[in-house]
Amino acid sequence: MFTNAGMVQFKDYFRNPATAPFKQATTIQKCMRAGGKHNDLDNVGYTPRHHTFFEMLGNFSFGEYSKSKAIRMAWRFLTEVVQLPKDRLRVTVLASDQETFDLWRDQEGLPESKILRCDAKDNFWSMGEGTGPCGPCTEIFWDTQNPELKEDDEERWLEIWNLVFMQHYRNEQGQLENLPIVCVDTGMGLERLAAVIQEKENNFETDVFRPIFDGLHEIMTAEGIESSTNINATPHKKIIVDHLRAMSFLIADGVIPRQDSIKNIIHQEEEIFMSTLSKGLALLEPVFKQANLAATKQVPAEIAFKLYDTFGFPLDLTVLIAEERGWTVDLAAVEDLKEKQREQGRASWKQGANDILAKAATWKEQGVFPTFSGYQHDRLLGQSS
Ligand code: ATP
Ligand code: MG
Ligand code: MG
Ligand code: MG
Repeated sequence: MFTNAGMVQFKDYFRNPATAPFKQATTIQKCMRAGGKHNDLDNVGYTPRHHTFFEMLGNFSFGEYSKSKAIRMAWRFLTEVVQLPKDRLRVTVLASDQETFDLWRDQEGLPESKILRCDAKDNFWSMGEGTGPCGPCTEIFWDTQNPELKEDDEERWLEIWNLVFMQHYRNEQGQLENLPIVCVDTGMGLERLAAVIQEKENNFETDVFRPIFDGLHEIMTAEGIESSTNINATPHKKIIVDHLRAMSFLIADGVIPRQDSIKNIIHQEEEIFMSTLSKGLALLEPVFKQANLAATKQVPAEIAFKLYDTFGFPLDLTVLIAEERGWTVDLAAVEDLKEKQREQGRASWKQGANDILAKAATWKEQGVFPTFSGYQHDRLLGQSS
């Protein structure tokens, strides 16, 4: 159901543009960044721009147009179609990619001060660590003009569009080969563009999220839970709003979307989680009241481990609850306990396997050989396996 990049279906066309059934494409792709290389799960609610689920707009060229036209089209779209003021945009390029720097300066007329040279960490795109098409990228940023942030503060700038120039292929030996012709792969976040166009400081205040937030607020008020109409008051509501939207899209893509089944599945998940949560909290709450621990303000690793291991209580939740009280969790010590348990598991598995082998050896001596009769039994019982 998932691929780890939006260009996976086009990968072969970058290597052999002649095999592409079309030379260019535009896309709207559903993206999840709740794991893997680009994991944004922990950013959601705490930054104005990250979601677990978002829609990425893209345009692709398989040898049809190259850097110059890709830059021309992106700049025209932002400054002429959407009519963003040019002086509120700036771009980054890979330091060694002089061609792209020159295009921004000479073709689009950007002052050099608005073209930042960055290193490969930020401006060289590749798919994970493995093989595949890759290349330098250039990103377009919007000046949020947040009065609390200086112009040279990175957080003041909202990344809206990433243009990747597929020039290389990383082969099995990890070497970079040149692709026959430069291809283009771009990605722009719909929600971020919406925030800019709707003049919102935060994606969550756009019309994409506002109705979900209003619904949440209504339910909280009806349940007598204190709730402010300010979506930015705490990260929690933004997280709920984000996850509700992500869940709905995921469920809708995995099963035939019927409203009731979506509701049921979410409800079941909620019940399971609430039961885990209350069992875990019953164990965790007393810890914060223990006088001997209050001095170090640290949750004992054994308790964090037990919560995780016995109750399925997520470790990051323990950390979050601890942090809210100004406490910490010794994660390294929890890891040690996890490793110790894995070792015990391996040892007891080995012991169990040895016992069976010893028993099997005696059968062999007695001339007894096992036969597999699972399928016959299944048929006799008339049950499907
Ligand atoms: P950032 O630096 O803000 O985390 P990124 O460099 O990880 O963004 P890209 O991998 O370049 O993002 O993805 C292309 C575009 O997709 C970004 O320019 C942005 O508009 C959008 N985007 C990326 N991550 C998210 C997210 N978590 N939520 C919403 N939009 C996103
Ligand atoms: Mg990111
Ligand atoms: Mg970025
Ligand atoms: Mg980027």
